[in-house]
Amino acid sequence: MSGSGQKRGEDQPAQCNDDWRNRIRLTPKHYAYLRISDGCDNNCSYCAIPGIRGRFYSRTIENVLEESRQMASEGVKEINVISQDTTSYGVDLYGKQQLHVLLEKLSKIEGIEWIRILYTHPRHFYPELIHVISQQDKICKYIDLPIQHINDTILAKMGRGVTHAYIESLIDDLRSHINRLFLRTSVIVGFPGETEDHFAELLEFLKTTQFERLGVFTYSKEESTPAASFKKQVPQKIKEQRLREVMLTQQEIVLRKHKDLIDNSIPVIIDEKNDNNNGWIGRTYGDAPDVDSKVIIQGNHVKAGDIKNMRITGTAGYDLTATSIKNGKRIK
Ligand code: SF4
Repeated sequence: MSGSGQKRGEDQPAQCNDDWRNRIRLTPKHYAYLRISDGCDNNCSYCAIPGIRGRFYSRTIENVLEESRQMASEGVKEINVISQDTTSYGVDLYGKQQLHVLLEKLSKIEGIEWIRILYTHPRHFYPELIHVISQQDKICKYIDLPIQHINDTILAKMGRGVTHAYIESLIDDLRSHINRLFLRTSVIVGFPGETEDHFAELLEFLKTTQFERLGVFTYSKEESTPAASFKKQVPQKIKEQRLREVMLTQQEIVLRKHKDLIDNSIPVIIDEKNDNNNGWIGRTYGDAPDVDSKVIIQGNHVKAGDIKNMRITGTAGYDLTATSIKNGKRIK
């Protein structure tokens, strides 16, 4: 786990610090994305972002807090912290990782009720960060941890800087320290050189690890990236077949996990009215906007932006159904 990095020169302009003032927020009033840094120094071999967005660049803590306070004053209750690599936040500016410090300060802002951390890098997780996530009530027990693959040869070719053993032990750490954690990951299938055995190792890992949430993508060549010219590119048909296998595996995992939630109560944020105007759509604390599952809420006794304990009543495909609970009792 890395804990320090190269500090950015004091004379370099804080180029992304004030962008937020001119940004138009397109999300509903009650949630927002908070970009804490831009660019990336990781140089994964398949990714064009470092070439497009440049070197990693953090905003100052004070500047991020200023935007967050503004968000809170406008009715934002859920902040989704984003960056190309949230776990590296602060390394360039303060000479060491500062995401845990930022999260503690964000937790003190009145009006902000949920803080969700997206786009972490497994290589950059560190003990203080795990501690803060486990201790701060406002931080959703949800971590987006894109592993991309699990086979050591493929991870090395991807330039991820981690191994199968490291990822396994990090996940053990996260799950043992953070109660009721929803772990999201994303994986790439059909990376150049991925053999049947490499893929089988990935599938087995997903079956045993049982991520609560998962995104799977087929590898596609990005112009000017090293991986685009790697030998042993995998045929499209095989990539798609592998993607289907991962999706089928994950479908079973999610269904099983969702069935375990039935009759339990869980905090849900209300996003919008249901299409047929009968009931509402929300998300559990374990679901990020746009990418994860939804909760279909029966009844009309809530409004957008409410965060309430709901009793899970059933499943609907990848989604859940729920009713509100008032004074410990279910509302019909
Ligand atoms: S995949 Fe993510 S961490 Fe890797 S280079 Fe691209 S933006 Fe950076």
